[in-house]
Amino acid sequence: MAQKRQRTGFIPLLIGPLSASLSGVFLGEWNVLLEMLKGKSIFNFSDLPGISIWHGLLWLVIGLAAGLVWTVWLAARKKPVRVDFLVWFIIFSYFAAWILGQGFINTYVFAGIFNQSGLIINVIFFGLALAGLILLLRSFRQKAPSFNPFWKSYLTIHLALLLAGLIVLLSPSDVRKDKLANEEPVLKLVTGDSSKNVILVIWDAVRADHLSCYGYPLKTSPFLDSLANQGVIFEQAMAASSHTVESVPSLLSSTLSSSHQMNDITSYLPSDLIIIPEVFKALGYNTVAFSFNPYFSPAYGYDQGIDRFFAPDEFSIKAYKTIFGHILDRSTRLAVVNQVLKPIYLLSQRLSTLSFGETELASTDPETMTKRMMNWIKNHAQKPFFLLAHLEGGHAPYLAPPAFVKRFWPEENLPEAESWPITFPQSLGLFLPFREGPAVAEADRQKMLALYDAKILYHDYWLGQLIEFLQEERRLKDTLLVVTADHGEEFYDHCGWGHGHSLYQELTHVPLIMAGEGLLPTGLRIKGPISMLDLFPTLYHLLGMNEVLSLSYTLEGEDLSQALVQKKEPINKKPICLELTQGSRRSKSLINYPWKIIHSVFSSEEVTELYNLADDPQEKNDLSVICPKEKEQLLISLQKIITRAEEKMFKSQRRWISPSEKEKLRSLGYID
Ligand SMILES: [Zn+2]
Repeated sequence: MAQKRQRTGFIPLLIGPLSASLSGVFLGEWNVLLEMLKGKSIFNFSDLPGISIWHGLLWLVIGLAAGLVWTVWLAARKKPVRVDFLVWFIIFSYFAAWILGQGFINTYVFAGIFNQSGLIINVIFFGLALAGLILLLRSFRQKAPSFNPFWKSYLTIHLALLLAGLIVLLSPSDVRKDKLANEEPVLKLVTGDSSKNVILVIWDAVRADHLSCYGYPLKTSPFLDSLANQGVIFEQAMAASSHTVESVPSLLSSTLSSSHQMNDITSYLPSDLIIIPEVFKALGYNTVAFSFNPYFSPAYGYDQGIDRFFAPDEFSIKAYKTIFGHILDRSTRLAVVNQVLKPIYLLSQRLSTLSFGETELASTDPETMTKRMMNWIKNHAQKPFFLLAHLEGGHAPYLAPPAFVKRFWPEENLPEAESWPITFPQSLGLFLPFREGPAVAEADRQKMLALYDAKILYHDYWLGQLIEFLQEERRLKDTLLVVTADHGEEFYDHCGWGHGHSLYQELTHVPLIMAGEGLLPTGLRIKGPISMLDLFPTLYHLLGMNEVLSLSYTLEGEDLSQALVQKKEPINKKPICLELTQGSRRSKSLINYPWKIIHSVFSSEEVTELYNLADDPQEKNDLSVICPKEKEQLLISLQKIITRAEEKMFKSQRRWISPSEKEKLRSLGYID
């Protein structure tokens, strides 16, 4: 006892900051809760270092101050204080467990899919913790009276935080208030006229010229062809970029890459960028997404506006936003910690499944994905829904069941799937026109094409199954179906393989087909080039949602709905801008039909190419020397567009990539 009595001032100095830091983390969890629940934040979490430093410093300072005050007070008291270490241990373990549990639940169980049952779990957990705390207080009062002063100050901080959190939580809600530039709500909650369901299917890496409805001589897309006959086909739809990470955010937000800055594996969707699902969510739609691609997953911030997100394992988890997310995200990837945390993780997964059903995708083949989609649709009959599916499409590896491959490779020996280009290490890191890929024998190239076509047919088959299912469920007439691709795929058309290394047509010309009974004419072919950025404004005008959207910035794309309804070509179409970023290598392109300019920069080298798409759709004849005037004009227009886009830059966010995640991305061929 005598020894313990000596330890007076030093311990609170340590424990003060520690406990206050824990409170800070707890406040962080409040912030996450608020953001998920009400779309507003106490803090602006712009990036990981910012969050860590901000929290750490603030609460360290508060803790130091609290510790100091108490130490001074103890010194003034001149009487030694008994500190029962067992009590300290219990109380801090208790708080640690409470806070860790909160973090765990918010991060893993809720995982960005916050709903009422999630809130109930959180409230129960919180109530239990509070009740336990009160019991502890009562017992300590009797057993360790000298413990009171510190405990009081600690409790005061905690209760103040709880109160602050509750006040903000119970205050009137505005949807995404943090997105305001001019104090006007960006998305107003109104009752929309539309009760149409919307299904947006984005196939990965499907070039338009390999689909039969786009004139491909082989029958790769019978179901898509008939969908095109029932709706509208855009003959020249242009993706905003040639890889997922850059083109999908443009497609979903109708902004250029120079504005949203999503262009590499550390990109994270800016919180002030509105994406299509958010509009539907604001309208009261059920919103759901299915994705095979890490670059379109909650891990990259895409759960913005999406109630349920089905994605592969670790990418289905939105661990980024919380402090615990960061800690757990990192620690669970360490083998040793993983062994310890695994049982808890599995338990939380089970909890999550109980509450929300499975959200992880064990397999990403079109059959599994489509069946999951059908299942979801079946169980969500009450409200109109917005379903976004990002499927493998033509992405390498080019794997399809033998029945599909045989259609394109009738010989006895099926080509081996390993012959896809990503297995050549040289095919990564290409950047045309500066770095070419390795040439292969023509027979091997033909095998690759056969496998690629088979994979497209495989996806087309499951698209057909989905349409049939909608028909059987009598939901087809209430559903607007959109099928497109995020970019194309190259098979040595310009001495490259795969995608993400140039802005030539094989990578940027994508399919776009829209069909919806009562909304769109049938059998309409739009011949002129349009940008995939036009989809967003076209969709919401088509569905009569004009009043829902009141943005503090203008969408880059154009509304084509009037032209579609009037069965006309869109008039006064502005030039189409495409962008590609690969670290310091950049390409920008402008299409002012029939002219297309591509300006590429690599280290100190610069190349400007000019093509006439009407005469030379495969871009084989560079006319930049022959037509300097056209080149100059397009270059000036391109520069103007980019400068304007850079002026409306969104809050860029970056995410941390773990070694295992990097490995996964490498296995998909995304990084070299
Ligand atoms: Zn892609």
